[in-house]
Amino acid sequence: MRWRGERESDNVEDSRGMSGGGKLAIGGGLGTIIIVVVGLLMGKSPTNILGDVMNNKAQQSSGYEQTTTVDPNDSTTKMVRVILASTEDVWSDVFNQAGATYQKPKLRIFSGSEETACGQGSRAMGPFYCPADAKVYIDLSFCEELRTKFKAPGNFAVAYVIAHEVGHHIQNLMGTSEKVQQLRGRLSEAQYNKYSVALELQADFYAGVWANRAQKMRNILEPGDLETALTAANAIGDDKLQSEAQGYVVPDAFTHGTSQQRMYWFKRGYQTGDLNQGNTFKELGLAN
Ligand SMILES: [Zn+2]
Repeated sequence: MRWRGERESDNVEDSRGMSGGGKLAIGGGLGTIIIVVVGLLMGKSPTNILGDVMNNKAQQSSGYEQTTTVDPNDSTTKMVRVILASTEDVWSDVFNQAGATYQKPKLRIFSGSEETACGQGSRAMGPFYCPADAKVYIDLSFCEELRTKFKAPGNFAVAYVIAHEVGHHIQNLMGTSEKVQQLRGRLSEAQYNKYSVALELQADFYAGVWANRAQKMRNILEPGDLETALTAANAIGDDKLQSEAQGYVVPDAFTHGTSQQRMYWFKRGYQTGDLNQGNTFKELGLAN
């Protein structure tokens, strides 16, 4: 993907290397309570527990000092800002054409774990979108995981993942996520899962629409980029993730769709660039 020299978004927040403040207080407070409770359960004396707590605090603060060495302008961070800027340009254009204004999401880079309006986020969850604060969250170690764990090397794999999360923001703005949310509790878990899958596949479709339009706007694609995105879509489908985790596949527990489905919808978005082609809910009878 050709990205150097392109516009960088102002909507990227970076919580890595923050001096601590509230974050440390929350971590320390909760940690202290847990240590004290566990200590008492294990029959430790209060003095010993206090010692543990002090050690724990010392370890935590040295950990925070390390994070301050993060370079907020390293090349991955700059690239993430360029990718977000490109989604802003594309979706602003799409919304303008429909006579509306695109409300841009924030993207928050964090390290390890992060407090969000949707609860505690962590690196292990992979990148995610929180509708309640309209933010995309990403721990950049995921970019490395795409290369190593998911065997999807190349910058465009990262772009696909961010465009997918922005796709969830589009669903939030369009009210699609809310419609699906309202069905929760009225449907069995297996039925509701089908709607969750449709949401995920539509976010892939939107990522494809972004790629189509970003290419027309700024000519960002390089040979092999599309394959890179498809490799990522293939690698992080739920069937792959589940079979790796459990050794078998449980269709009812799918929330992202199979690798095949993810590739199909991303491709469809990329080939058409047309929002009207993205009704992944059709078979479920929910209007898009
Ligand atoms: Zn998703």
